Amino acid sequence: MIYSDFNGQKLSKLGFGCMRFVTDPETGEIDQAKVNAMFDLAIKEGVNYFDTAYPYLNGKSELAMAEALSRYPRDSYYIADKFPGHSLNKPIDNIALFHVSLRKCRADYFDFYLLHNITEWSVKYYESEEYHIIPDIVQMKNEGYIKNLGFSFHGGPKLLEEFLTKYEGMFDFVQIQLNYLDWTLQDAKKKYEIIVNHGLGVWVMEPCRGGKLAVLPEEESAKLRALHSADGTDAVPSDASYAFRFLQDLPGVKMVLSGMNEVSQVEDNLRTFRQEWPLTEEERKVLMDIAENLKKGVPCTACRYCCDGCPIGLNIPYLLECYNDYKFAQTMTPSMRIDALEDEKRPAACIGCGQCKHACPQGIDVPAVLAELAEMYEKGPHWGEMIEARSKLIDEDIS
Ligand code: SF4
Ligand code: SF4
Repeated sequence: MIYSDFNGQKLSKLGFGCMRFVTDPETGEIDQAKVNAMFDLAIKEGVNYFDTAYPYLNGKSELAMAEALSRYPRDSYYIADKFPGHSLNKPIDNIALFHVSLRKCRADYFDFYLLHNITEWSVKYYESEEYHIIPDIVQMKNEGYIKNLGFSFHGGPKLLEEFLTKYEGMFDFVQIQLNYLDWTLQDAKKKYEIIVNHGLGVWVMEPCRGGKLAVLPEEESAKLRALHSADGTDAVPSDASYAFRFLQDLPGVKMVLSGMNEVSQVEDNLRTFRQEWPLTEEERKVLMDIAENLKKGVPCTACRYCCDGCPIGLNIPYLLECYNDYKFAQTMTPSMRIDALEDEKRPAACIGCGQCKHACPQGIDVPAVLAELAEMYEKGPHWGEMIEARSKLIDEDIS
């Protein structure tokens, strides 16, 4: 196992994400025997980092992780959990909820604790004086319940830079969506650099983009297999292994989380992390080429030439980032980022004057793209609807 030295802690570079455990489709119960088997295999091969979050698997992930880890000494592994500020629709007793998570994890302290899912939309709740989240969580750290404090982040580079500058010295690490596709699609390269420049550790989530880089379209996967026949070794590396090796090559990356749900997946990941396995120049080139082919959006370079002349003052590159994200996969992230905008700044506010289309050096038909984006956004899913269910769970847990 490859390890990272992070502030004197020896962390397995492969961390076990606990958000994708297999559940019974009817009861929603987690297959605990399978979780135990996967943990046993991972721990035997040196994995010592386990990442959960209060809302994962409808509140059951923390319990399943704790059950599997209860068979090992507490000082033989690190656990990470997250505060669900993005799931609140009213102020709550934050400290009571924090202690609920500790109890569910059967822990006296968290080695790593994160503010969950900071975006342009959720940051206002995290920073709200009324919600009082940041001071309460910092208090938990000061009282010794948290060893390392961080946050997971799904917003853009501008917010990341502002947030880290504002809270300089408060956080130890930042968890971002990082993989060879989002390196350019979500400007993860810029976010990686911002975190490193602030002297913090980079934690990686979605290394295979929700599995999409683990099972590539046949014509893209064939390019990777062709590389393998060129290198002449026997075992055929999986598509996922290339995605993980891309991350191993980034020196600021201290932790790569994989949400494993099958023993075979654990075995494959362990093979990739057994020792340093740098990409060759050729392999890197092919991966970047695959990333370009997988993108289905528009080639906006965020030059902002279109912005000054927009009579509505829309943040066009921001909206096009959301569009590109939607085009790759219908996830919650772009929807949350549009939720963060006032109605008059959302894509539907575009009046179709066409100024931006003429200003754009990339020839992007911005009004047509914004019309499509408005339609995709309308269809949902919308975060506000999910929060209702989550806040019910929180109310029950802290009552
Ligand atoms: S077409 Fe829409 S986005 Fe472009 S300048 Fe006009 S109002 Fe702004
Ligand atoms: S001018 Fe074109 S490339 Fe530049 S920010 Fe606007 S849409 Fe993007």
